[in-house]
Amino acid sequence: MKQKGRLFLGCILLFFLASLGLFLNFDRDRVMAAAEARHIPVPQVLSSKPDVALIGDDFSLPPVDNDKPVYDKYTTRQRQEKGLPTTYGKTRDYYYGDNVVYLTFDDGPNDKNTSRILDILKKENIHATFFLTGQNVVRYPDVVKKIYQSGNAIGVHSYTHDYKKIYVSPKAYTDELLQTEEEIYKILGVRPIISRAPGGTEGHFTKDFWTAINNIGYIEVGWNALTGDADGTGKTADKEVENIKQQLQLRPYLHRHLVILMHDAYGHGATVDALPDIIHLLKGQGYTFRVVTTAIPPSW
Ligand SMILES: [Zn+2]
Repeated sequence: MKQKGRLFLGCILLFFLASLGLFLNFDRDRVMAAAEARHIPVPQVLSSKPDVALIGDDFSLPPVDNDKPVYDKYTTRQRQEKGLPTTYGKTRDYYYGDNVVYLTFDDGPNDKNTSRILDILKKENIHATFFLTGQNVVRYPDVVKKIYQSGNAIGVHSYTHDYKKIYVSPKAYTDELLQTEEEIYKILGVRPIISRAPGGTEGHFTKDFWTAINNIGYIEVGWNALTGDADGTGKTADKEVENIKQQLQLRPYLHRHLVILMHDAYGHGATVDALPDIIHLLKGQGYTFRVVTTAIPPSW
């Protein structure tokens, strides 16, 4: 009788523990599903600290030959609140090398093309630079982390990419820069200080735009070569590779300082397909691949 009673109690205890386990699991799934439905990233701890360069509290920039992605440990708003400088000033020093190339990708991140590009870069043992829109940062926080942790560089490419909104005024433009850096900061705990204007600065930036981004310390990064993946001249992977070959032949001065514009948004699978050939072409010509840093010269 005594033994049966113990068995009975044991069964009840087991049943209770199993139910508790199911309940907890169910609850976690429900929280995750609710977070996903509201597009809230489930917070995760960064798995490793990448090798990056941070600017000083006084906004001092890293040495010109630094080849690590550069970030700030404060957002612009935090700097303003703490009374810290928000810019490096009016001038900075440039890095020039021989046969240097910067691969740059605009409009990401996304879970398809950006991830494929990161795999290619890793396989080729090189790094590139990604100019992200704020709205895609919010959609794909895990890809933002992957770019950062793999030692590739991140810059800001507006929040909405909507020319009608961002180029209305210098304030509209910098508001989107700041909004995007806040979102990146939430994910990485650092924020970029390089940016690229959607469609480029030409025809979009007046002198006041340059002043406004300089006041918050952003370094604007143009390009001097492109695969044509967004202007209709590079519709296939082969054509994109051919476009780069031609530009290098026609403009030998590019060999000193080559900044290639590409896109990793949806619909740019051809760029991903062209990338290994472009990398091999440049490696064959003795190029060194660098990430965009605060010492990048003007692209023209
Ligand atoms: Zn763009």
